Amino acid sequence: MRVLITGGAGFIGSHYARQLLQGAYPAFADAEVVVLDKLTYAGNQENLRPVAENPRLRFVRGDICDAELVAELMTGVDVVVHFAAESHVDRSILGASDFVRTNVVGTDTLLQAALAAGVGKFVHVSTDEVYGSIETGSWPEEHALEPNSPYSAAKAGSDLMSRAYFRTHELPVCVTRCSNNYGPYQFPEKLLPLFITNLLDGHRVPLYGDGGNVRDWLHVDDHCRGIQLVAESGRPGEVYNIGGGTELTNRRLTERLLEAMGQDFSMVRPVDDRKGHDRRYSVDHAKIAAELGYRPRVGFDEGLAETIRWYRENRSWREPLKQVQK
Ligand code: NAD
Repeated sequence: MRVLITGGAGFIGSHYARQLLQGAYPAFADAEVVVLDKLTYAGNQENLRPVAENPRLRFVRGDICDAELVAELMTGVDVVVHFAAESHVDRSILGASDFVRTNVVGTDTLLQAALAAGVGKFVHVSTDEVYGSIETGSWPEEHALEPNSPYSAAKAGSDLMSRAYFRTHELPVCVTRCSNNYGPYQFPEKLLPLFITNLLDGHRVPLYGDGGNVRDWLHVDDHCRGIQLVAESGRPGEVYNIGGGTELTNRRLTERLLEAMGQDFSMVRPVDDRKGHDRRYSVDHAKIAAELGYRPRVGFDEGLAETIRWYRENRSWREPLKQVQK
């Protein structure tokens, strides 16, 4: 079996690749793995160091928009797990063209090549942000897509291209939509690693607006196990929400983090709110639970403590990446 992992040098893609190659997914135990990653600022080959010597891994530095390269790599591939994306909302507010290019055009390039190569399963990794913002309750998979940021709009575009390749060409595509991930190896521009590394270095943390924005925090390992269930047994053409983490306001998340790191609220620096900041995300993950037996395993306190420990112990990983926001 051959698996093509795009974006496998990023936060979530590298977790998936490490887990797969270290035997966490028995159905893929013997799989040959090709990681295709452009190594943008967010991609880091260090993230694959624990499996770098594994003879079943081939790393290719390249762009998912490069149709010739993608077609070549797709030959003989059974399963595509597509993580590659521009992923940071704040950057998409400053300029959206890279987001449209990679997230929409890149996904289309992969879908086209997968169709031509007769790939058996294509898992498109998407986000709960495509649904927009919800005051109360949770989104089921059939909810309308109402993305608000350029990032989520570009992801919604890629979700719709995935749907179209299934409806038009019967390419066996599944889409997953997950809530906010946290864990080791996350680039320190995102909220939790930014806050953890700032606090480790004695700097204050910037809290947007009134801190009342609500997110569901799921450990990256639970997300990747959900993706694997979909890769193995998801029904072609279906969307699966992945969630069930811990729902917190940003303010409460910050307080939990400060408590875990033995610090207090004086380390918080309020900053102007993000433009168009979605108030609350919440996915209903009953479908993947009922159909595929998914349930999250990592408790938030345990996952947060392990994540803080990882950043504390891996200064040499984080220091080159960190642009401290004092
Ligand atoms: P990330 O930014 O850490 O990693 C993205 C990876 O994609 C990087 O290694 C980067 O080099 C690579 N990449 C970017 N453009 C590329 C291109 N044109 N060609 C090849 N490679 C390219 O992102 P992440 O947090 O690991 O997210 C992975 C996926 O999961 C994304 O599709 C994201 O939308 C989705 N997702 C993320 C979260 C989250 O909380 N981080 C939640 C739900 C869904």
